[in-house]
Amino acid sequence: MMYCFQPNLLDNNRTGPLVSELWGLRGKCDMGIAGYISDRSNIPIKWIEKSPKNNGATGAEKLASERGVLLLRNRTSKFIDQFTHPLGRCAKFYKLTTYNNCNFWCEYCYLYLTFRTNPVSTHFVNYDKMFKEIIEFDRTNIPDALRVLNLGELCDPLAVENVTGFAERLIPFVAKHARHTRLLFLTKSDDVDSLLDLPHGGRSIMSFSLNTDRIHRNLEHRTASPEARLVAAQKLQKAGYQVRFRIDPIILYQGWEDDYIDLVRTIFKYAIPERITLGEYRPSTGLANHIRQRFPDSVLLKINESLTSDGVKLRYPERKRAHAFRTIIEEIRRQDPSVSVSLCKEDAAIWREAGLDLTGLRCNCLG
Ligand code: SF4
Repeated sequence: MMYCFQPNLLDNNRTGPLVSELWGLRGKCDMGIAGYISDRSNIPIKWIEKSPKNNGATGAEKLASERGVLLLRNRTSKFIDQFTHPLGRCAKFYKLTTYNNCNFWCEYCYLYLTFRTNPVSTHFVNYDKMFKEIIEFDRTNIPDALRVLNLGELCDPLAVENVTGFAERLIPFVAKHARHTRLLFLTKSDDVDSLLDLPHGGRSIMSFSLNTDRIHRNLEHRTASPEARLVAAQKLQKAGYQVRFRIDPIILYQGWEDDYIDLVRTIFKYAIPERITLGEYRPSTGLANHIRQRFPDSVLLKINESLTSDGVKLRYPERKRAHAFRTIIEEIRRQDPSVSVSLCKEDAAIWREAGLDLTGLRCNCLG
């Protein structure tokens, strides 16, 4: 049976600042950058001795203690490494890890599971090490499609831009010092005004993760509304950035067809996408417990019951997801037949069933 969102669930976005506390890891934190962030945000740094672990709280209290805080510390592992999908359903793109975790409160966020032992949102402040790695990356001999550093795999890279001002430094740096490299920001934020006048040199791709209003209001707490994201996309496109969209996670509920068709029509009112990538809701089997600890009444726990098991993931049956992809792709084609469309983490059979050709390596995370 398909889930039906209740009207009284439609307005549960939480309000207030995303970050109310800044913490710093004593002795393991670039003081210059940490001081800059504290001055810029006007939030004093509380110094701690160890990275905080799971605190045992539940519900909104847990979310506030994990995602109402931004921990500043140096990164000891590499900033740049290659993503490898365990089932080979994804290209081996490169990621640039500048944040771990996120300050938004999406109910389906897989980072609750990924960072279950280090749940506090973290920003890595030893930018010097990161800049060196970017320059080394820029000098490597790799195919053009992979010369993109994806900033959205383990965070939303613009969620707290007003606090850190990080993208304001990174975007011009790459334009000036790493001319063979591109950055890929994937976001649900609309906080882009500080990026519009930067000398970006066409080296940054701005990709907005979008969903229907119903999914936003029920599940994507504290994020910008889909329309606000589209307004931000329009501003960035006018400022010369490449703009992409990702419709993900596609969730099938009563009325989904009309809502997703409306979403596609709205996209084209605001921007000319370079590419649109689609992904269906595909939670890891271990995620449900982490959702329950934070959102005990989440509708996702019900929706998960209608999914089938596929290795470590729960997914909609193939026939259903191919139908959903086809429905959305047909509307994209009606709006603009020339837009590049791709699927996220689907095998060749689903691409074919969705009516997509498989020539050329393309998806949101590739150049
Ligand atoms: S914006 Fe992305 S990373 Fe942030 S909470 Fe939502 S799903 Fe997670």
